[in-house]
Amino acid sequence: MRARQLPYNRPDIGEEEIAAVEKVLRSGWITRGSATAEFEHVLEEYLGVPRVVALSSCTAALHVALLVAGIGPGDVVLTTPLTYAATVNAILYVGATPQLVDVDDDTGNLNLDLAERAITSRTRAIVPVHYGGQAVDMEKLGEIGQDHHLTIVEDAAHALGSRYQGRLVGTFGHLTAFSFYATKNVTTAEGGALVVPDGIDVEKVRRVSSQGMSKNAWMRYAAAGTWRYDVTELGFKYNMTDIQAALGLAQMKKLAVMQDQRRRLAEQYHKQLEGLPLKRPFAQPGCDHAWHLYPIRLRLGDLTGTRDDVIELMKAARIGTSVHFIPLSHHSYYQARFGWKVGDFPVADQFFSEVLSLPLYPAMTPEDVDEVATVLGEILRGMAR
Ligand SMILES: *Cc1c(COP(=O)(O)O)cnc(C)c1O
Repeated sequence: MRARQLPYNRPDIGEEEIAAVEKVLRSGWITRGSATAEFEHVLEEYLGVPRVVALSSCTAALHVALLVAGIGPGDVVLTTPLTYAATVNAILYVGATPQLVDVDDDTGNLNLDLAERAITSRTRAIVPVHYGGQAVDMEKLGEIGQDHHLTIVEDAAHALGSRYQGRLVGTFGHLTAFSFYATKNVTTAEGGALVVPDGIDVEKVRRVSSQGMSKNAWMRYAAAGTWRYDVTELGFKYNMTDIQAALGLAQMKKLAVMQDQRRRLAEQYHKQLEGLPLKRPFAQPGCDHAWHLYPIRLRLGDLTGTRDDVIELMKAARIGTSVHFIPLSHHSYYQARFGWKVGDFPVADQFFSEVLSLPLYPAMTPEDVDEVATVLGEILRGMAR
């Protein structure tokens, strides 16, 4: 057993982040201001896109994306059951009707053939999730979107740095929402960003994210600013703060190094888990996996125990794990509201019963990975049928 707990996740916060946040705290301007503007600029440069708006969360970014795309009551939005509540909640915030479509067994991403078959005259948008950092088939998704005149809003919470056929997620011309939540590949503690493609008014995105006001606080309080403003529509309080942005700027400087560490640790898992009764995640040919998650799938037919048993035994060995995700159709609120139930999405349901995310983050060492793989191997051998 480990002497120390190996947490499921730990953000990679160093002296650079601490110094950057301290600088903002001492500056006299702590909410949205120059650091947030700079963070947006760094994201634009990294992705190679003209417009990124930093927001308070990915949930906010998804909400605003659907709003500015004009999705609302009466519209049906297709999404995956294998995601976090944020994805479907954003659809509900705009008053649209979510329709779940089962996932692809290999990747855990939305099954695009099923999605295309589910389209009706009421379908207005698709919200795919790049599960774990594996990009959705963007070519096929783009064709479906064009053929059926649908808005695509990408939930790219796991996919900063993911590439599909060499192109970064966020550059395919769709509204794309990233997350900087504590566990994500780049963190601002809480935070998100929206890539605003051509054809969408970036000023509208900014207005809707700041109470529908014609000017934000930074402009109002700046020396050259004026106290007058007008509320021109209903908006929300979704701005990022400079404290968060300072964290994000320090993180972006380390992104390449952090991604390399994730990739190397994932490769080590891949080697060390070979031969065990489980399916390992993989990167599709031509695509760079962002390795936000390392979700393994247990071959339950070869085991006497369940996924939950494995979690408990890992925990007893002081190793944290997680599950991505409890399908949306298993939650009581959505069941009561939409009549969804366990069994409605057989691939996602099966996926859920088998899946277990192993710890994977840049602060881990190769020795940590070795230990996780060794402990897991012992547990699974103890459960062999
Ligand atoms: C983390 C996550 C979100 C939400 O991100 P927040 O920044 O916490 O709002 C949305 N979708 C998926 C798939 C996530 O994992």
